[in-house]
Amino acid sequence: MNRTNALEINPDRLWDTLLVSAQIGPGKAGGLSRLTLSDDDKIMRDKFVHWCKEAGCKVSVDQVGNIFARREGQDPDLAPVMVGSHLDTQIAGGKYDGILGVLSGLEIIRTLNDRNIETKRPIEVVCWTNEEGVRFHPPMMGAATFVGALEVEQALTQTDADGAVFGQELERIGYAGTGSRTPADIAAYFELHIEQGPVLDEEGIHVGIVTGGFTSFGARLEIKGENAHAGPTLMKRRKDALVGAAVIVAEVNKIGWEYEPEGRSTCAKLDASPNMYGIIADYAAVTVDVRHPDPAAAREMYQKALALIPVAAGQANVDISIADEWSFGEIAFDQELISLVRKTAADLNVSHKHMLSVAGHDAYQLAEAVPTAMIFTPCKDGITHNEAEHVEAGYTVPGVNVLLNSVVVRANG
Ligand SMILES: [Zn+2]
Repeated sequence: MNRTNALEINPDRLWDTLLVSAQIGPGKAGGLSRLTLSDDDKIMRDKFVHWCKEAGCKVSVDQVGNIFARREGQDPDLAPVMVGSHLDTQIAGGKYDGILGVLSGLEIIRTLNDRNIETKRPIEVVCWTNEEGVRFHPPMMGAATFVGALEVEQALTQTDADGAVFGQELERIGYAGTGSRTPADIAAYFELHIEQGPVLDEEGIHVGIVTGGFTSFGARLEIKGENAHAGPTLMKRRKDALVGAAVIVAEVNKIGWEYEPEGRSTCAKLDASPNMYGIIADYAAVTVDVRHPDPAAAREMYQKALALIPVAAGQANVDISIADEWSFGEIAFDQELISLVRKTAADLNVSHKHMLSVAGHDAYQLAEAVPTAMIFTPCKDGITHNEAEHVEAGYTVPGVNVLLNSVVVRANG
């Protein structure tokens, strides 16, 4: 391919489609609050399915609600090339995180239709269920189930904070499918995503070719103390779970500073019970999250975080245990696909650089099982998981064109 035979998407159509999505499940500050399996998620899914069918795709839904829209290839027996991301958002999320990746996939199909271009392999656009993991744990749930890292049954029985069950919510919104797909069915997976950091925007580069991820370690700590009256209870008799959590929160934050600028640490979620005025908390739970591009350094940071447990327990006179632990990001994307994306970007004269991803993505799950590539596009000041998230068409479209041409090359190979 060279610049004269390169394909180009229709930017206005992509942006109009993104604007429709941006009206579904509006947040309070101009972004989106479209939690997975909510009524708004259903409206968005229905819209997406409608668009895909309109574009001539055959749509199927698997048991955890992942949606696959297939544009047939010249040889339907060949494994398809898959492209997609997620349509759910954070509780105060942006209009592009995940959404841009799915709707870029749809735009690829529409562009190929416009030009009557057939590909050898089928192309499938996918919307993964519950990437964000806000309402139901864990994040990247649909993709994890697809690659077999999570049992279907385990996903279906998850409950949200109000006790709603994932499987029942899927049925309620009409996305409890019967299909079951496996990674063996597909040839390659591409995901375009806005960068969740400021690098591309700051450097004025249009495309980030993701070569791997920051190594991340996380844990959920449970802190058990004792209920007591905030007034009469002597300081020495208190077992204040919230104090134990507070020590963890403050000290984990220091670990990130010790390893900055590359290291990052936080305690993103804190629950306390009974969380009422005048009562000393008998229970708290806090999540620990440390990340570093160097796996050894990330591990070291995590060890330091765990070493805080006895310290905090001693200071607050409470019991602290690890209720859950996880790690992700020690992955490598496919070398051949990385080369293909790099060559495509170079052929299209689109500025690009290699980079690591700091956040988790559906592509992380896919990379465990199929050749996978990720393309980042710039995001204003790197602000995401925030209603202020903003991207400009002019900075985004070059990346979508790189995606389009890379997918077509792979689908003909
Ligand atoms: Zn995302």
